[in-house]
Amino acid sequence: MRQVPDTHSAEPIPPAAREAIDALMRSGDLFRYTAPENAPVSLLEAEFAALLGARFALAVSSCSAALFLSLKALGLPRDARVLIPAFTFAAVPSSVVHAECVPVLCEVGENYRVDMADFAAKLDSVEAVIISHMRGHTSDMDAIMALCDARGIPVIEDAAHSLGTTWHGRNIGTLGRVGCFSFQSYKMINAGEGGILITDDADLVARAIIMSGAYEHNWKKHPVLRDAFALWQNRLPLYNLRMSNLSAAVIRPQLPELLRRVRDGRRNHDHVADRLNQSPYISVPEKLAPEQRAPDSIQFNLVGMTEEQTHHFVRAAASAGVKVQVFGLSADNARAFWNWRFLGDLPELPQTRAMLMRACDVRLPVQLPRETLDNIADILLESVGAATDMPAAYGT
Ligand SMILES: *Cc1c(COP(=O)(O)O)cnc(C)c1O
Repeated sequence: MRQVPDTHSAEPIPPAAREAIDALMRSGDLFRYTAPENAPVSLLEAEFAALLGARFALAVSSCSAALFLSLKALGLPRDARVLIPAFTFAAVPSSVVHAECVPVLCEVGENYRVDMADFAAKLDSVEAVIISHMRGHTSDMDAIMALCDARGIPVIEDAAHSLGTTWHGRNIGTLGRVGCFSFQSYKMINAGEGGILITDDADLVARAIIMSGAYEHNWKKHPVLRDAFALWQNRLPLYNLRMSNLSAAVIRPQLPELLRRVRDGRRNHDHVADRLNQSPYISVPEKLAPEQRAPDSIQFNLVGMTEEQTHHFVRAAASAGVKVQVFGLSADNARAFWNWRFLGDLPELPQTRAMLMRACDVRLPVQLPRETLDNIADILLESVGAATDMPAAYGT
């Protein structure tokens, strides 16, 4: 009998993390600012900035915290309008609300990327932009940066799910003023929880460092120009969103694994995409030319299927052991903008809604062997066949 594919187990954490954690257990030194230097969180910041090619990094409790601090560090006034894609995780509009700003939703196309016509039309009404590279899909950053630079509008990259993705060979997260990443378990590097922001802007990172909870003179433990801090001492609130040394000890030994994970994830994704694209009912959107992806999941659109057939497909795949999420059909999905009712009056975004009603999401953890990937592809193709009464002869 065919095995039920396991798409939820994580890859084991490298053994070096255990030694680092043992050392922390013995010393009890869990707070990032206790040791005079070389705390695991500080070492992580230096290593991460070097890895990505940024001047500064600040490790925090989550990517949401990094987004919130980025907005705060930009010094946006209360009620400033911030443009975000309408296809993103609810944490993104939430971070805007948390920063006392107002999210403005931009249409997203059927390739999961920001619709540039709607983006350009709304840009003059906002003071900042967050680009969510949702599920690692990179929007047209050349066009976005050109439009924003011409107006002096700062861009925050939500690269939570894009660690290892490049654009014209440059790391995603280094294109805008700030880049924010997540170490939550479903991302490329897994610490359970955690986040980090990177930037080349010394003044911005100084403000973010203080607000993240570098109270009194703890900022002296960050390698940033001292003048930047002198200006802000005691003038900013302390939100205490720091990372613990324990998290850094789990993250650091995974950094050398990143390139391999990215390579495996891309190979796995492209293999499954090729198989799924053989079905006339499935379309896996192409990436944009300058992008090199780092996927740990696959998204595809159902083509020419009714809503009833779509439900049938999801049920058939589930009973064979593959969880497919159709963003717009699963109840209370946090990535469907109409569920962000905490925003109050929600605009209608017909293009994004149409995409969400047929866009499917399947996890493909990078460590899955080829056999499991083929299993998943078989199940998805057979389930489409069952939902459309079409024999699933192709590909198997
Ligand atoms: C996971 C994710 C977030 C939130 O990250 P946390 O670290 O859980 O706060 C934000 N945006 C995107 C695109 C994500 O994938």
